[in-house]
Amino acid sequence: MPTKKVIREIIRLLEMDYPDAKCSLDYMKDYELLFATRLSAQCTDERVNKITPAFYAAYPTLQAIADAEIADVENYVHSCGFYHAKAKDIVCAAQMLISDFGGRVPDIMEDLLKLPGVGRKTANLILGDIYDQPAVVVDTHCIRLANRIGLVKTEDPVKIETALRKLLPPDKSSDFCHRLVLHGRAVCPARNPKCTECSIRAYCGYYNRH
Ligand code: SF4
Repeated sequence: MPTKKVIREIIRLLEMDYPDAKCSLDYMKDYELLFATRLSAQCTDERVNKITPAFYAAYPTLQAIADAEIADVENYVHSCGFYHAKAKDIVCAAQMLISDFGGRVPDIMEDLLKLPGVGRKTANLILGDIYDQPAVVVDTHCIRLANRIGLVKTEDPVKIETALRKLLPPDKSSDFCHRLVLHGRAVCPARNPKCTECSIRAYCGYYNRH
């Protein structure tokens, strides 16, 4: 397991590589990030960003989404895959946001998890990006990189979240997860990681074993 000093160094190097640690999903309103994240399951952020402008043009308010026919929403989100479930979750979540949370996306993990289609990954993303709270977003890139680097030895997202919360400074954890995504896309994909180009290779268990 890396020491705190090594973790700080990995954080510093990734901050230099990716100064802009942002989620790549486009959104203007808090609930738009929530729905974009739901749409991004088994889909690319790029695809989601292509379809959301037309959806929000047709349904410009949370109330409009809550009142929408699910079948009509399906037409807008069709190309993101799993469109029956995604459209239903979005409409039902909009209804719950209005009925139970005063039209505002909650800022507490337990409340976020009550929303249809919202799991810990989405809840952490909202807490980190909307509310600037310490958050650990465990997605496929985070799982792969955290294991390769040697921060964890498990594929279980909840165990990874718990482990990273202990390892990472709280004020850095959300941005660190965003940077793992960027690094996973640019340098450390699932197949053929470009280790010789990687700024953190000196601290990476995978690199030092191969
Ligand atoms: S050294 Fe290789 S395996 Fe390790 S993080 Fe970099 S690209 Fe990925």
